[in-house]
Amino acid sequence: MAKLLIIEDEKDIVQALEYNLKKEGFAVSKAYDGLQGLKLARELSPDLIILDLMLPGLDGLELCRTIKREPPTENIPVIMLTAKGSETDKVVGLEVGADDYITKPFSMRELIARVRAVLKRYGKKSKIVQARLKFTDLTIDAEKHEVLASGKPVDLTAKEFSLLQFLAENQGRVFSRERLLDQVWGIEASIETRTVDVHIRRLREKLGKAGKRLITLRGVGYKFV
Ligand code: CA
Repeated sequence: MAKLLIIEDEKDIVQALEYNLKKEGFAVSKAYDGLQGLKLARELSPDLIILDLMLPGLDGLELCRTIKREPPTENIPVIMLTAKGSETDKVVGLEVGADDYITKPFSMRELIARVRAVLKRYGKKSKIVQARLKFTDLTIDAEKHEVLASGKPVDLTAKEFSLLQFLAENQGRVFSRERLLDQVWGIEASIETRTVDVHIRRLREKLGKAGKRLITLRGVGYKFV
C-alpha cells in the first residue's frame, strides 16, 4: 500500500483528499502547515507528497526545495497544488523540483490519476537510487534504513544515517561542512557548522572499526573512503 502525505492548510480539501485516497487504497497522513509537513516527510518517508503551495509556517515552494535537497527525502515525489492556476506558480513549482502540479479546483479523479502516474514513474526510478551500499565492514540499506557495521546493527539517528549515506554514496569525494549542512540538514540557517563535526564524531563512535572510513581533511571537510 502506497503511503501518501498531504500537506495542506485548508481542512475541507484535506478531508476530501483523505476520504477519496483512502477509498482508493492509499494510506494517508496529513499536516496542516509547512513545518509539521516537513517533520512528517522526514519521519514517515512517504511514497508521495501532495503539497499545497500556500501554507502557513513554511510555504510550499520552500518546503519542496528543502524536501528535494535532503538525502532522506530527496527521492520522494511531490505533486503540488497551486491555487490560482497561474503560469508562474507552475513554473516555479517545477523549478524547485515538484514532479507534477494540479490546479485548484481539481477533480478527485484527475488527482488520483496523477498520483498513480507519478508513483508508477518513481517506482522504476527509486529501485536504482535506493540500492544498498555494501562495503567489507559496513552495509547501508536505504530501504530498510538500516546500518550494519561488521555484521552488527548500529542504532543511528535520522541525521547520522543521512550524513553517512550521503558520504558513502559519494565515496572519495571531499565535502565541506557547509556543503554537508546544505545536503543533509537542508536550509536551516541557524545550524552551525560544528553540528557536522559532532555528528561525524558520534558516527565514528557508533560504527567502531568501520568509523575509520570517515576521514577528516583539516580545514577542508570530510570524506568517506
Ligand atoms: Ca493553502
